[in-house]
Parts: sequence; structure tokens; C-alpha cells
Amino acid sequence: MTGAGRDMPRSTGSVRAMEYTADSLDRIEGVLVATAAGDALGAGYEFTVPGAGVDIRMRGGGPFGFAPGEWTDDTAMTVAVAQGAVAGDLRGDGLDAAAAGFQRWYAGAPKDIGNQTRVVLTRAASDAASMTAAAADLHARTGRTGGNGSLMRTAPVALRYLDDPDACVDAARRVSDLTHADPHAGQACALWSYSIRHAVVTGTFDGPRLYLEAADAVERDFWSPLLDAAEAGPPTEFAQNGWVVHALQTAWWAISTTDASGPHHLVAALETAVRAGNDTDTTAAIAGGLLGARWGRAAVPGHWQEKLHGWPRMRVDELASLAREVAAAGGA
Ligand SMILES: [Mg+2]
Repeated sequence: MTGAGRDMPRSTGSVRAMEYTADSLDRIEGVLVATAAGDALGAGYEFTVPGAGVDIRMRGGGPFGFAPGEWTDDTAMTVAVAQGAVAGDLRGDGLDAAAAGFQRWYAGAPKDIGNQTRVVLTRAASDAASMTAAAADLHARTGRTGGNGSLMRTAPVALRYLDDPDACVDAARRVSDLTHADPHAGQACALWSYSIRHAVVTGTFDGPRLYLEAADAVERDFWSPLLDAAEAGPPTEFAQNGWVVHALQTAWWAISTTDASGPHHLVAALETAVRAGNDTDTTAAIAGGLLGARWGRAAVPGHWQEKLHGWPRMRVDELASLAREVAAAGGA
């Protein structure tokens, strides 16, 4: 990849368009394919804590009765964000398109949906301003809108702004704000999308720490010790992973404590995320976005890819095409 190993600091804004090689295209596809793989892998174990003796397989089931390889709301909403990103800039027209996509998906009566997202989508129209206002209203009334439901769908934002980390961070916050007004949700999405973008461009997991180096002091002082704790474990220290903070920690724990010396890291870390238990589809989907950005679609086992499917009647090749379209819409 042109420019591999180098990255522009966030403050420099737009940089020269990347030149895409087979390797970087594999990473671009990997962002969405590994998100879906983690989601579908975890779906069969949701709200459980699999013991050390339990095989983690693409088995489906779980409390919502998913088919083997079927992805859940995490990837469905990720697809809606990706389609919005193809339609336009996620800081403008694309944000409306993403909001409309959420409503199209919700109109199909999905079997699994986060509580907070359901409340917002029930009250909002199909445009970004209405949805963001409904989310802000929910936050003002309850103060409890820090679920992991925006972090789980933030991966495609990275693909739309591969050449512009500042735009990536800005867009990630706006997409989060559509349903999750808690500042920690927006910060988590900004950090994670930045890190996914960084992994596609540089092939490293340096993104989370680099993001915090450039963040304001309040954000840095909040998240830096949380990353430290994630790297130390154990996951019982951040077990409430329906909360965005513990969800990010669980994903980072799985990524940072498994052997990252080669592409086998992707499967090992996804299985590890599932083993942490509780909201397993979501923590593995979150981890998958970053793992796929680093190791590429090729690191996702073929027997998993063959089974992957979900809203809106998509299979893995279409998901991979969508990832390329998002990157292309961003100027690739
Ligand atoms: Mg789910």
C-alpha cells in the first residue's frame, strides 16, 4: 500500500488520495466482513458467559433464534450507515440517508433491536435532524443513553474518510448522535472509527492511543485509563458491556491480549470477545471492525463467510462490495 507505515496527524485534514492495492482492498472489505462475522459468531452466545471448555462456533441460536451465520441488528445498522455513506457525506446528505436506512430496517420488524434505538426510531421521522433531536430529548429526560448501539455500527464511517481523519472523527460523532446523545457514545465512536481508518491505512493497532494523544484533555483523561484497564483485564472488570464504555473495553481487551503476530489473530480475538460473555454479538462485531481493518477479509475463515447473511437480504460478497463502494464514495 502506498504510504504504509505512515499516517497523517489528525490536524492536517485532507491528504492525497490513497492508491489501492489488492492488500488494501482486502482490508477495506475486511472492515464490514469481519464486523458481520463477529456479530454472527456472537449471536449464538448472547447473554451467556461461555466457559473455557465451550467451543465457539458459527452456530446461530441464542435468545433471538438466529440462523447459523445470520447477522443481527449490529450489522444491519452497519449496512444502513454504509449505504448512507455511499449516498452522500455523513456530515450532510449521507446522514439523512443513514437515518432513512435505520427506519427502513426498523419497518421490517427486526427480531433484535437495542432498547434505546427502538425508543428513538419509534419517535423520530426518517431524517437526521428529527432523529438526532429525538435522541437528545431521550438523553435530557433519562440521562441514560450510553448503550453500545452506536459503537456497534460505526465501522463504515472509517471507510468513507480514509483520506481525512478529521472528517472521520466528525462524522462518527454525528452518526452516533442519531440515536445516542451520551457524549461517551460519541467519543467511543470517534475513537473506534479513527482506529479502524488508521488500521486500514497503516496496518497497525496504534489508532486508539494515537486518537487520544490528539484528543482534548477531558476525553484523554477519561479513556486512557480505560484502555489501560482493558489491556490488563480480566473482562469481569468491564462486564457491563451493554454500556458503550465496557463494550469498547471488552473489544480492546480481546484484541490486545491475544497473539497478534499474524492473521490468525482475527479469529482468536473474535472468539475471545465472545468468551467475555454478555452482549457477545455486539462486542465481537465491534472487535471485528478493527480486526478486519488490520488483517483483511482474507483472515475471515471461508466456512464463516459462506454462512454470513442478513438484512437486507445480503450475503458476504455484497457486503464486501458495499465496503468498496463506501471507500470509493470517499474519493478512493
Ligand atoms: Mg445484535
